[in-house]
Amino acid sequence: MQQDCIFCRIVNREIPTKIIYEDEYVIAFPDINPAAPVHVLVIPKRHIDNITEVDGKDAPLLGHIMTVIPRIAAEVGIADEGFRTVVNTKDNGGQTVHHLHFHLLGGRFMEWPPG
Ligand code: 5GP
Ligand code: ZN
Repeated sequence: MQQDCIFCRIVNREIPTKIIYEDEYVIAFPDINPAAPVHVLVIPKRHIDNITEVDGKDAPLLGHIMTVIPRIAAEVGIADEGFRTVVNTKDNGGQTVHHLHFHLLGGRFMEWPPG
């Protein structure tokens, strides 16, 4: 838990947020400023600044996240038509919240390349 981290505060229920999915390791909730009709954030409960901070011992956690993502996508109704999973990292990646998170974006066609 990092005191000044908004996502740690969501994990700790200090900021009331609609929880879409939760288990021992992961929590998912709607993005406050959706970039698509469906925009969900999937985060590890444990604070990790960004994907550059992980190492081999995080492999089970990351594998777990990758298996819950399609389940959450199905739950919010974007699995059949498809969706995009995005991990913004540091400044050039456009990361604004420095707690590792996976964006799930769906409900419309996603252009490529991103802006
Ligand atoms: P990033 O730009 O770091 O990849 O994504 C951070 C995301 O977190 C943004 O899409 C932003 O809208 C979302 N966000 C920031 N603060 C909050 C918050 O307090 N609650 C929720 N639900 N989403 C937030
Ligand atoms: Zn955090």
